[in-house]
Order: sequence, then structure tokens, then C-alpha cells
Amino acid sequence: MKLYQQTAQKIGEMLAKKEVTSQEVLEATAERIRQVENKVQAFTTLTLDEAASRAQAVASRQDLGGLAGIPCGVKDNLCTKGIRTTCSSQMLENFIPPYDATVISKLKEAGAVMVGKLNMDEFAMGSSTEFSGFFPTNNPWDLTRIPGGSSGGAAAAVAAGEVFYALGSDTGGSIRQPASFCGVVGMKPTYGRVSRYGLVAFASSLDQIGPLTRDVTDCALVMNSLCGYDQLDSTSLQVDKPDYMSFLHKDIKGMKIGYPREYFQKGVDDSIKDIIKKALLTFERLGAQVEETSLPHSEYALAAYYIIATAECSANMARFDGVRYGYRDDKAEDVEEMMCNTRAHALGPETKLRIMLGTYALSSGYYDAYYLKALKVRRLIKEDFDRAFEKYDLLVSPATTSVAFKLGEKSADPLAMYMSDILTIPVNLAGIPAISIPGGLVDGLPVGVHLMGPPLSEGKLLQAAYSFEQATDYHLKTPVLEV
Ligand code: GLN
Repeated sequence: MKLYQQTAQKIGEMLAKKEVTSQEVLEATAERIRQVENKVQAFTTLTLDEAASRAQAVASRQDLGGLAGIPCGVKDNLCTKGIRTTCSSQMLENFIPPYDATVISKLKEAGAVMVGKLNMDEFAMGSSTEFSGFFPTNNPWDLTRIPGGSSGGAAAAVAAGEVFYALGSDTGGSIRQPASFCGVVGMKPTYGRVSRYGLVAFASSLDQIGPLTRDVTDCALVMNSLCGYDQLDSTSLQVDKPDYMSFLHKDIKGMKIGYPREYFQKGVDDSIKDIIKKALLTFERLGAQVEETSLPHSEYALAAYYIIATAECSANMARFDGVRYGYRDDKAEDVEEMMCNTRAHALGPETKLRIMLGTYALSSGYYDAYYLKALKVRRLIKEDFDRAFEKYDLLVSPATTSVAFKLGEKSADPLAMYMSDILTIPVNLAGIPAISIPGGLVDGLPVGVHLMGPPLSEGKLLQAAYSFEQATDYHLKTPVLEV
């Protein structure tokens, strides 16, 4: 096995035992990037020079372990001091943040070696990375297909061996859906579990940062570094931070797992349902009690999400006015024209569509009919989950309705694109944690198994995911990018 194919945890062990140096690991990663990046196109910015100095600094550290010396990538909506942070938008093409997001500071403390910023749908709005203001990313399993989105660059880079792990953000599924399409592990933590300080906001009440990794152990490893209270984020939870690695080797005998029937209805491909049914049998074989259940308001989740997310987006996007950040049209005659031209020129069509939808939903004549109604639906969805978790430890569903679709297949049809997150969105509305893990292949393309749990049950999710992973070999399958 080549160095770049190892897991982060294995590289950590090799570094600690001095079987390899952090410079050698970085060189192997850089070589892999040189070989495959022109096919995958996962990065918006490469930071290999900065990475080389960090790898050198780490080499002299005595306390190797954890994430120290391990190359990673970061979605380009996380602020990185001195390194451009574009949100894959023309608006921020040359924006260089003067500070680090809290998660970036945490990675730096842990000795992580960031090799670059990863492509995404503009401002995290999208499901395929085709709405990037720069270029689309290709799925390493089939370069004619999308990697998912909006964290498509992150999932593709991990799957292609260009980084050992990546950070993404998930507002309606943007970590789990691309993880499913690219055959990697992706976790969306409980709302408030990971600080959002320095994450460029899309929909603040839904956004959450989380890891994309090659396996469940690496997910636990990265979660250990990311979590914790942060006074810079007013929604950050003041709760104890468990050692997520300690959950991995517990068995799941007696664990109660429900599968909501609404997640297996029309719109989900039969081949995907088969994979999830097989996964449920695996959980049963491992000692869990598996039962059908119901989340009756699921069918309203997508509609509520697209009101709430666009409403919050319209407020968050107001700051990009040509005055404070990023691009400015300098030919305009007055301020109003400058703002109009700036936004008209530098924002993509999907972002504009959402700003308009959100502004409409929040306008005085429609606020009650749309926004307030959507908030009430959100509450009903949360209560569905509360009731389910009185009876079940975890819920299992497909992560996506199909395998990764073809580039261009849905980009002209917003509704078809929105539907691709129908199974991941309810989790964000309820603020609960969830994980997608590799569950098998359909026609040579990966499919994710989606596990959802009550607030702060990340440990239990990792425990069940790890047991499943130990009983299967899907996570060991990797795409062939003939070089
Ligand atoms: N695809 C969903 C959207 O377009 C979710 C995006 C996300 O999670 N950032 O809004």
C-alpha cells in the first residue's frame, strides 16, 4: 500500500514510531496531487509551500500523535489567516482573511498540515459542486459524474487520496451527501458541538462543520480535535468533550435501531433501498434490535428547509455589498449602482435565486405565510425525532436517493437538484448529529448508509458505524484513477 492510501490514524502511528517523517508524508501527498488533480479538480487553492514549513515544524515536535504531521484539506468557506478564502465565488476570489476560523486554529494546535482549500458550490448552496464560481469538481469514481455538494471538493480529495481527511460544512447535507457519492465517511455533528466561528455563513441556524475521512476511526480522531466550547460562537454548546476514540470498540448488542419508513418511499432507487436493507441485516447480526418506525412529517422537510435556508441566506449575503469585502464594481456613478453592479457581476445564478427567494419569504406580506409556517414545520420535524429517540438509540436510512448523477444532469433543474438532499435535510432542521458511511457499490459507484442520533450522540453514532465497518469491507474500496 502506498503512503497516500493509508488512513490518518495509520500515518499518525508511523510518524510516532519514526517509520516515516512528516516531510515524506507531505511529499507523497504532493506527488499524488500532481498525478490526479487535473482530473479531479478538487482544490481552489494549493498551499504546498506553507504545508512544507508546517511539516518541518512538526518534525521537530516530540508530542507526535493525533493529527500532527498529517496532510489535510479544508473547504473554502473556512477562514484561513493569510490564505485566500473564496467560498468558490467571484465575490471573494481575492479575499484574504485576517484571522483563522476556530476549527483552523484547533487543527494548527494539533499540528495538522493543510495542503489546500477545497472547491464547493458557491457559498455552500448546491448539491453537486457545479455551482462553484470557478469550475466543477469531478467524482474520482467516474470523472463524468458529480462528487456531490456542496463539500464536493472535500469528499473528492479524500476519495482520490489527495488528502488524508478534510473539513466540510453541512447545512442540509453538504458533508453526508458528497461522502455518500464519493465512498468516504462524513459526519455532521450536533448543532453547536463544533464552533462555527470563521465559517462563512450560509444559513446560520443550520450550518455545522464536520469531518470527511477514509474510515470511522479517522472520523473519531478528527472529531476529537474539532469539538469543544468556543466563546466566539454564541451557539457553541458548553458541554463535556468526550474522547470519541473510546467509543469505537464497544459492541452494539441490544442497541435499538429504527428505520423510518418515509425514507424508503418513492424517489429512492431500489438498488439503494437494497443496500440499506442489507445494512440493517448487518446491524441485526451484530446484535442490534432493528425495527421499522415513522417520522410522519418528513415529507415537509424539504419545503421548510428551502424557506428557512434561503431566508437566512438572504440576510447573510447582504454583507457582500462591495463596501466591506471582496469584489467591488469601480465604474459605477454612485453607491447604489455600485452595490447593484457588484452583486450582479460577482454572484452566481443559484446564489441570486436564493437571495430572491429568501427576501420574498421574509417580506412583510409573506413572512407569516412562509417563514413562520416553515418554523412551525421545523418544530414538528424535531418533535418527530424526539419521539423516535425515546424508543430508539439510532435511526438508519439511505444518505441519498441515487448514486452520483452525471455532470450537467440536474444543473438546469433546481427542483431536481434540491431533491437530492431530501434524506439529509431533516437532520439539520432538528439540529441532531448524523454520519454517512460506505455501504456498498451500485454499478461500481458508492452508496452511503446514513445513521442519525439524538443531540450529542456522536459517540454512539461512531460506535455503531465502527461495528458496521468492522463487519464489512466497503470502506476499503477505492476509486481507480489510472495515472
Ligand atoms: N444542497 C443543499 C442546499 O443546496 C445543502 C447545502 C449544504 O448543506 N450546504 O442548500
